[in-house]
Amino acid sequence: MDLQKRVQELSDELLKAQKAYYVDGRPLMSDLEYDGLFDELSAIEREHPELRSVNSPTMRVGSDLTSDFPEVEHTIPVLSLDKAYSASEVVSWMEKTSAMAHGNLSFVEEEKIDGISIVLYYEEGMFVRALTRGNGYVGNDVSDNIRTIKTIPLRLSRPVTIAVRGEVYLPKADFERLKETNPEVANARNMTAGTVRRQKSSEAAQIPLTIFVYEGFWADRSQTPDSHLAILACLKDLGFRINPHLAVFSSSAEHSGKLIKEAGLQARALAFGDLASYLEEVTQKRKSLEYEIDGMVTKVNEIAVRDDLGYTEHHPRWAIAYKFESPQAVTKVLSVTVQVGRTGRITPVAELEPVSLAGSTVKRATLHNQEYIDELELAIGDTVSVVKRGDVIPAVEEVLEKNEEGNKTYVIPPLCPTCSTPLVHKGAHLFCPNRDCPDQVKGRLSFFTARDQMDMDSIGPKAIEKLYDMHLVRDIPDLYTCDYSLLLTEKGYGEKMVKAFRDAVEESKKRPFATVLSSLGLPEVGSKGAEILIKGGFRSIDDLLKASDENDVAAFTSIPQIGEQTAHLIIEALRDEAMRARIEKLRAAGLQFEVHDDREEKPDQIFAGQVWAVTGSFEHFNPRSLALRELEKRGARTVSSITGKTTHLLAGQGGGGKRSTALSLGVKIVSEDEFLSLLSQGEKKEEKKEEDRGQAQLSFDF
Ligand code: AMP
Ligand code: ZN
Repeated sequence: MDLQKRVQELSDELLKAQKAYYVDGRPLMSDLEYDGLFDELSAIEREHPELRSVNSPTMRVGSDLTSDFPEVEHTIPVLSLDKAYSASEVVSWMEKTSAMAHGNLSFVEEEKIDGISIVLYYEEGMFVRALTRGNGYVGNDVSDNIRTIKTIPLRLSRPVTIAVRGEVYLPKADFERLKETNPEVANARNMTAGTVRRQKSSEAAQIPLTIFVYEGFWADRSQTPDSHLAILACLKDLGFRINPHLAVFSSSAEHSGKLIKEAGLQARALAFGDLASYLEEVTQKRKSLEYEIDGMVTKVNEIAVRDDLGYTEHHPRWAIAYKFESPQAVTKVLSVTVQVGRTGRITPVAELEPVSLAGSTVKRATLHNQEYIDELELAIGDTVSVVKRGDVIPAVEEVLEKNEEGNKTYVIPPLCPTCSTPLVHKGAHLFCPNRDCPDQVKGRLSFFTARDQMDMDSIGPKAIEKLYDMHLVRDIPDLYTCDYSLLLTEKGYGEKMVKAFRDAVEESKKRPFATVLSSLGLPEVGSKGAEILIKGGFRSIDDLLKASDENDVAAFTSIPQIGEQTAHLIIEALRDEAMRARIEKLRAAGLQFEVHDDREEKPDQIFAGQVWAVTGSFEHFNPRSLALRELEKRGARTVSSITGKTTHLLAGQGGGGKRSTALSLGVKIVSEDEFLSLLSQGEKKEEKKEEDRGQAQLSFDF
C-alpha cells in the first residue's frame, strides 16, 4: 500500500472528525473508531517520521521539545480596543461613527472574551503559525502550543491565505476542575496565558483550551467579504469556531434581521434604541455563560466603511469595547471644595492624593451633592475608591477606610463660597441664588465663548477671569462693547492677543441663530434643544419671546420632544429681565437672532439623481465630510460603499480599495480637480440666473 497516500487519508478523516466533534459539536464517528484511526496514523508516523506533517492531527498532543518562542512580525494590525463604560457612551460612539461615515451603518455586537488574543496565520489553507499579540507589531510564535487546541483547524476547507484573530480561553468549568490541582492560579485567564506559553507542548495539550475567532484578514483583499457578518459566516465555513452570541443593530430590527438572514447566521436582530437594554440584559446573563467575558464589542458591519475609518496608533476607529467594570483607583481624600456652576448649582469636589487611573493622574473627583456624601458617609481623610465611568470626571465610589483623625461626614457650608449668599435647595442640589455671583457670571461667559458654543476660542476661562477682575466684562454683551486695548497694560496681554479677541468677537457675529440660541444658557436648550425649537417652528428669537410673553405653553409642547416642564422652564427663563436685556444688547451688537435661508444653502441641483461615494483624502475638503456636504447640497445621494447603484466615485489621494471596485463596476471616477470645476460650473450658472433676475428687475423698473 502507498503509505503516503494512507497518511493523507487518515489525516483527512481525523481532521474532519476533530472539527465535527470539537467545533461543530456533532461527532462523525465513535470514540473507538476515532482512536483506531489515530493509532494507525501515529504508528506510521513513528516508523516513518519523514511522512509526518507539522499539521498532522497527531500533533494535537504536542511534543516534549522545549521552545523559546521566537519573535515574528505580524502582517496585520493587532491593536487594542477603544473603551466605553456606559451604554450611552456606546450609543454616542455609534452616532458619531455614523455621522463620520455619512451612511446608514449597521453594527455587530459581540461578547468580549476574557482570554488571550491570538493571530492564526494560514497559507493556501494550511496552518503556518500562531502569534501572540505581543506589542501589536511583533508577537511570540506559540504555534506548537496552539496546534494542540482541537478547535483550531490545521487545514481549512478552502486554500485561502488568511490571518485570523481570535481569543483563546479556558471554559469556567474546566478551570474549576483544574484549580483543585493548581490552587495557585488566580483565574481562567491566567491559566490560559500560562498554557499558551508552556515550554512543552505536550503539557499544553493537557489543558482543554478552546477558541472563538472574530476577525479575518485575507491576503488577497478582493476576497474579503463586504460585511462583518459575512466575514464571520465565511470563517465558520472555513472551519473556525465563532461565537454564536451575536446581535446586530441598525435603523430597525427588520433591517437587522434582513442582514442576518443574508449572511446566513443566527443573531439577535435589534434597532439602535435597543442597545441600552441589550447591554443590561447581557450584564445580567454574564454569570451564566460557560466562559468569562469582560465586556461587549461593537463593530461597524460595513467593511468599506471600516477601511475609510481606519486606525489610530492604539485602536481601530470602527470598533469600541463596552467594559462591565470601570477602572478604579484607591486614594485618600485630602479636603473637600465646593464649586459654583454657571446656573448657580453647587458641586462638592473631593481633593485627592494624586493617583493614576485609566492612563491619567486624578487629583479631584466629584461628590455630586450632599445626599451622595451622606450615603457614602464620606469624611476628610477617608480612604476611598475612585472610578472613571463614561463621563470624563471621575467620581468617588466608596469609602474603604475611615480616617483616624475622627473627622465626621462632610457637610456643605450654608453660604456660597464665592459670594457668601445663603444657599437654597432645589431638588437634590444646593444653589447659590445670587445671579451676580462672580462664579456664575464667569461660568456663563465661559460657556458662551466655548468651542461648542460661539467658538470664541481665544477668549477662554483665563481671559474671562482677567476681563472680569478688571471690570471690563460683567455680562455677555460686554464682550461686544468692551475696549480690549485696556488689556495691553496687563502682563501677558500683547497686541496679538487683543487682535485675536477682537477677531473672535467679529467672527462670532456670523454664527447661526441655532448656535446663538444654545449659547445663551437657557435651561434645557443645548445645541440639540436649540435645533429642536427651530425645526419646531421658532425661526427667530422674537417667535420665542412672543410665545413666552403670552405664556403659550402649547406653542412649545406641540413639538413632540418638548414636555410641559421644559416648556415652563424655557418660558420662565425668557421672561427674566436680565435675560431680556442681554438678548436685546446682543441683537444690537449684530448677532444672528433669526434663521437665514440664504440662497447659498440651496445651489443648483446639478447632482440630482446621482449616487456618489467618496474615498481618499482631499486638499480642499478636509475633513472629507465637507465634500459630502457639497454633494448633498446639490442633490446627490451619498453612500459609504460602492454598489451597482453608485454612479460616481469622488477619489482623493490614496483610498485604493474603492477605486478598484469603482473600476470593476464601471462607476465614473471623479478627481478633486474635476470635482472643483463641476462645482464652479454650477456656481456660474447660479450667477447667470442672478444676473437674469437682475435684468428682469431692471426691465420691469423701466
Ligand atoms: P483590551 O485588551 O482590554 O485592550 O481589549 C482588546 C482585546 O479584546 C483584543 O485585543 C482582543 O484580544 C479581545 N477581544 C475579546 N473578544 C473580542 C471580540 N469579540 N472582538 C475583538 N476583540 C476581542
Ligand atoms: Zn454665589
